[in-house]
Amino acid sequence: MRFDIISIFPESFESYFSVSILRRAQEDGLIDIHTHDVREYTHDARRTVDDTPYGGGAGMVLKPEPLVEAIEAIARSISDQDLKTRIVLFSAKGKPFTQADVRRLCGYERLIMVCGRYEGIDERVAEHCIDEEFSIGEYVLTGGELPAMIVVDAVSRLIPGVLGNAESAETESHSEEGIVEYPQYTKPEEYRGWKVPEVLLSGHHAEIAKWRKEQSEKWSDERNRKLNDRI
Ligand code: SAM
Repeated sequence: MRFDIISIFPESFESYFSVSILRRAQEDGLIDIHTHDVREYTHDARRTVDDTPYGGGAGMVLKPEPLVEAIEAIARSISDQDLKTRIVLFSAKGKPFTQADVRRLCGYERLIMVCGRYEGIDERVAEHCIDEEFSIGEYVLTGGELPAMIVVDAVSRLIPGVLGNAESAETESHSEEGIVEYPQYTKPEEYRGWKVPEVLLSGHHAEIAKWRKEQSEKWSDERNRKLNDRI
């Protein structure tokens, strides 16, 4: 899977993508991450990427020309390989990003992601150049860089070979809609008087599986109740 991320702050990504599972996945050639600086697609000496909003109001808006040129150049750059591509924009008003989207996006060979900043991007870019728009939660961030890291991370975990243990993605939270995983514990058996549930120490696999299923159902019910209460 190839990820192309368009941002005015491409340096934001360096540390996150250079550690742990995502670093190994790149070294193993399972994922290929490219970041692109919007300023490379400007044509003025000051490399201007933003301007004031029409109609007035606070803040600045990312200009359409460099963004559109960036998207087109990047989409074209490897078009001869005919990669099945999806172009994604991050915005607070986008569709809430879920594990079902993660699974669906895994069906593409390349994701081009556009990160907004300031008051966001000129809406004409969203209308004419974007396949889908995602929000990663009901709050406002300063930019689309964290959402892009989240999408790369979540999608990469489902690519065969990226996780050490192929099973771990299958039994995780949200692998089934509305279901979250059971609680996890590790050594020591007792810490500050806080004990690991007895059943996990029993070595009785059927009992452990039954307990985990019950806990997962209990947590899922509680969580779904809280979500429903918000509606
Ligand atoms: N003026 C915009 C509004 O009220 O919806 C907020 C712009 S925000 C400060 C700047 C950029 O951060 C957005 O263009 C988007 O790319 C990103 N962003 C902020 N919150 C986000 C969220 N919840 N999900 C995805 N992207 C978000």
